[in-house]
Amino acid sequence: MEEEWSYRLDIIDGPTRCGQLEKGDARVHLPFLLDLSRGEVLHPSPGNAKVELRFTRNGDGENDLSGKVKQRLDRIDAGGLSPGVGAMENELFLEVDGSRGRIPLISERLSSMLLDDPRELSRIIMSLREKAPAHPPIFIPGAGGSPDMEVLLYLGVEVFDTSRALLDAASGTYYLQNGELNTRELERIGGPSVLCSCSICRTGAEMDPGRLSEHNIGMLRRRLSLAYLKLKEGRLREHVMGLLSGHPEWVSAVRFVEGGTAWDVLPWSRSFRKVGKAAVTYRDDLSNPDFRLFRHRVRTNFTPLEHRKLLLLLPCSARKPYSLSRTHRTIASGLHRLKSWKSVCQRLVVTSPLGAVPMELETSYPAAHYDIPVTGDWFHDEVTMTRDIVSAVLSRGDFDTVVCFHGEGDRFFPEEGESGSMMGSSFINVHIEAERKGAKPLDELRHILEREMNGKETVPPRDNDILEKLKLIEFSLGIRLENREKLKIKRAPSGDLLLGNGRKLADLKIGGPVPTLELANMVWNDGEQGRRVIIEDFIPRGTIFNQGIISVSGDIVPGDVVLVGTEDAPKAVGRALVPGSLMRTDLRGGAVRVIAHVR
Ligand SMILES: [Zn+2]
Repeated sequence: MEEEWSYRLDIIDGPTRCGQLEKGDARVHLPFLLDLSRGEVLHPSPGNAKVELRFTRNGDGENDLSGKVKQRLDRIDAGGLSPGVGAMENELFLEVDGSRGRIPLISERLSSMLLDDPRELSRIIMSLREKAPAHPPIFIPGAGGSPDMEVLLYLGVEVFDTSRALLDAASGTYYLQNGELNTRELERIGGPSVLCSCSICRTGAEMDPGRLSEHNIGMLRRRLSLAYLKLKEGRLREHVMGLLSGHPEWVSAVRFVEGGTAWDVLPWSRSFRKVGKAAVTYRDDLSNPDFRLFRHRVRTNFTPLEHRKLLLLLPCSARKPYSLSRTHRTIASGLHRLKSWKSVCQRLVVTSPLGAVPMELETSYPAAHYDIPVTGDWFHDEVTMTRDIVSAVLSRGDFDTVVCFHGEGDRFFPEEGESGSMMGSSFINVHIEAERKGAKPLDELRHILEREMNGKETVPPRDNDILEKLKLIEFSLGIRLENREKLKIKRAPSGDLLLGNGRKLADLKIGGPVPTLELANMVWNDGEQGRRVIIEDFIPRGTIFNQGIISVSGDIVPGDVVLVGTEDAPKAVGRALVPGSLMRTDLRGGAVRVIAHVR
């Protein structure tokens, strides 16, 4: 038996997984498209444009491509089709520069009937992921039409083939960048040269099935290139959602997967992105795994400062971080006479799609990056998620009073406004109070805070600022740093810095804090755990691989900042590329990218 290609993981992003196949020096990047008419691997990445592909037949040499794909392919003039397509069912042989290797493909016997039931298909994909989170690539013979290719890439499929494009060509379907036309529509619009400048369409000659297949396969390849680019940029989900208009069956599959009932997507979701903007365009974007992860972490990991007795609910703003917005600056200037109001109030910004954001976390991803159309209308699920998170924060703190300073507060908390109580704390809706008295809401807020703050423990603004930064660090790194002396916040153009005894401990930039080795050292000596990766004794540079990792602590998702070191001493600070649970497997591929290391 021949040695197999091994799988190396490159990208984990929610349900998406993408890697490469390695054998010796030969590498084949995924995703790729199997061109059945030419026997080539079409790849979106430059430098990997052409790999000689050999299909081999199964055992007795029978073509046994299952189900309807096979039947329908038989009906086409098979002219250019490789006689070996049937062997794709279970495995595939790739030959690169004379090196031949078997790709151990996981492929269910999925006929085109299953492709008509995307929800069931996604259930099968998720069960494969469940069984083997870091297994060989998923290949679904017959997948790769419009728009299944992009959405299946999002759902974790890495190998596609051109059989659907060939079948569609045979039935006169012309592929577009988004969607498709039939040949009659194509004529009405003035022919293919109007829509496409590929070598086939440019000539303007009439489309026969052969020319249509050429165009369709070319288009499929361009679409895969675009989707791959979006994947690398961290924007595949956004791209896919843009393509799903008119395809409720695929939206249902995405909802099913993101909903988390079949498979828990959260450990695979990202807590940080280089390209930071997170757009919320559709209602389904509320379930974007990035948002779900943030909500989950606030709900389960955020603990308010103990001395805070008031929970102050504030409106959000289009500008991020919130504190730079006009709304929030107006509130701050209206309250500036109440010296230490920020230290008594746990500020919580009520917002969709994150539910509610503790002000300390306003610079973290995605709190500082999301962008949602503001209409003043709130969906039921937005109200529910806000109430959930406000309740969780309320239950974790020691609050006497909830003060709601949100113009639409009565939509979120109608009963609490009526009864004047929420989970045992008193509840005040400032706007309603102000309306009753004929006062301006901001004046009324000042009045209420003045009254409620009376006799409460306050902390000087500078100390409060430090306590809030430590909360941000606790949330982002899992490290508690209370009661440290000589800590200082330094304002810098790129973001604030946390200093200790004059030395830089953490960069508090937008996107989340990045600790220095100095801080890692402090934490190590104190036995603080946090998100920590223990490695064998080597100097970690560039990328740390699983082979060198001994143990992992804390819940780590891709994008998390982690501290790296031996049991005795810290060696580096880095960013996780994969979930913590995958770092202890024999998976090939990078586990942590080093940001800074000891010398
Ligand atoms: Zn074309």
